[in-house]
Parts: sequence; C-alpha cells; structure tokens
Amino acid sequence: MSEASTSSQVVEKTTYGIPKPKPAYYPHPGSPLYADKELYQSIHNAPKTLVSTHICQPRSAIAIQIPAKTVFRITTPEGPQVCDLNIWNMHNPRERFWAARTRQLHSAHVSTYDRLWSNLPYLRPLVTITGDTLGGRHDEWGGRVHDTLGTRCDPYVDKLISGEDMDFHCHSNLTRAVLPYGLTEFDVHDVLNVFQMTGLDEKDRYFMETCPAVAGDYFECFAEQDLLVAISACPGGDLSQWGWGENEEKQDMVECCRPLAIEVYQLDDVESVLKAWNPPKVPNYRGNHGLTGPTPSIQE
Ligand SMILES: [Zn+2]
Repeated sequence: MSEASTSSQVVEKTTYGIPKPKPAYYPHPGSPLYADKELYQSIHNAPKTLVSTHICQPRSAIAIQIPAKTVFRITTPEGPQVCDLNIWNMHNPRERFWAARTRQLHSAHVSTYDRLWSNLPYLRPLVTITGDTLGGRHDEWGGRVHDTLGTRCDPYVDKLISGEDMDFHCHSNLTRAVLPYGLTEFDVHDVLNVFQMTGLDEKDRYFMETCPAVAGDYFECFAEQDLLVAISACPGGDLSQWGWGENEEKQDMVECCRPLAIEVYQLDDVESVLKAWNPPKVPNYRGNHGLTGPTPSIQE
C-alpha cells in the first residue's frame, strides 16, 4: 500500500488568502477561563501534609474520592508510564471531565494553570493544574505531553483491528475501578492522557511517542470540587512497544509497564491560603434552549 493511500490529507500547504488566525479562546487575566496565577502558585508553594498515597499497579486502575480544596499529585514512582485520567463530581457523576472543551479553552495539551473543565450543563473547573514537572514544551516531532487529543485504549477497537480479546485496556481498567462507586462503562469518558507525548503529523494524523517521564515526575492538581478521580496505568506502558497485534517484532509490552500513584495532600492552613478562592459556579444560563415551559434547575 502506498503511503499516499493511507491518509485523506496531503502534505502540501495551501493558502486561501486568509490572515494567520488567533486562538479562538484566550484565557486572560480577568476572564472566567483564567486561573489566578498568584493564587495557584501560592497553593503549589503552601505547606501541606501528605495524607494518603494510592498505588495503581501496572495494567490496572484505581478510583479514589478527593475532597474539594485538596491538592493531589499523579506520579510515576518507578519511571515512564502513561496514565489515563477520568474525573467526576463526587456527588453527581453526570458532571465529568470534558476533554474537547478543555482542548478549546486552553490547548490540546495542558500544563500548569490550565483547568480541566466539566461537561454541559455544568461547564466549570473540576481541577486547576498547579504543578507539572514535564509540561509546556514540545519536542522536535511536535509532540507535547498531557494529551486531550486522544482517548483511552479500549477492547472494542483492539478487537476491530487485531481480532484479539484483551481485558486490560484503560477503558476496562477504569470500568472495574468505578464499579464500587455505582458507575459502569457508560460513565467512563474521554480521558486526559497524563505523561503521554502526542501530536499530529504533517498529514494531521495522531501520533504517540515514548513517555518521557522519569521516576519522581508528577502532575499536580488542586481539587475545585469534591471529586471521584480514576487513573489507569495503560497496558501500553511507556508506549515504547505498543501495537494492535500488528507489530510482530514487538517485545512483550509487560516489560515496559510500570505503576502509577496518586498522592493526596492537605493544605496546612486552608483558610489563609484559599482566602482569594471561590468554589466554581455553573454559568447562569436560563434560556432553556428556546423551549417554553418551566426552566429546569441544574443539580450542582
Ligand atoms: Zn491505555
């Protein structure tokens, strides 16, 4: 098969005489999209106590409840490993992370001071990112880390492509992890791929690179709400060997799989550190989509 036949997109650039576009959304100081850097830097720097550490074994997932006003870190305790992250409102799982809107409001890859936004009709931050040992840069191939472009690996696409049944994809890992909270696979949603280096190539195709994390790297978030947070240690491990049963040369991928962890920290002086913080509110849209009749109330 020729390379040309594998993509609808061509490498050639064209011009329609249109000027260089600006970002569609631009979180600037004073905008409701913007995280007050001073506040979130002070949250990052503030004295805090490690209250619990939760290990996520290779090729599995964990789900934990994290109260609002808590700081948590997702870490790579033993070296490179990609992490598939899902977040819900602890009290109302219909409110959950919305990767597509987050990508628009900030960027396709996220880092410190970006926020992870919830879906409609809520549209408010679930977390604000307060620390990131890897992020914000891009490599020579255009890859960046902490990706909202892709989604979780799942057994359906694996079966479709390879014909194999595999039960430890991130979708399945996350499904097992959230069952004790009354959730099912229908609650598992598009992820943030933490520690995952991805981009779009010259033909606009999604690519994944080997995870650049080392032992001790972390991705730190401030919980804006009471949350249920689930992470999966992807069975692709550090993505140095992954394939859909098509790469006969690949070594056993288990060799490149490592654990992840979530560390939960309590601010020592919540009141003074969070003096300027307000709990996120849903936008007060009352239009009812042009329908007549009573306006539904939104459960917060
Ligand atoms: Zn995965």
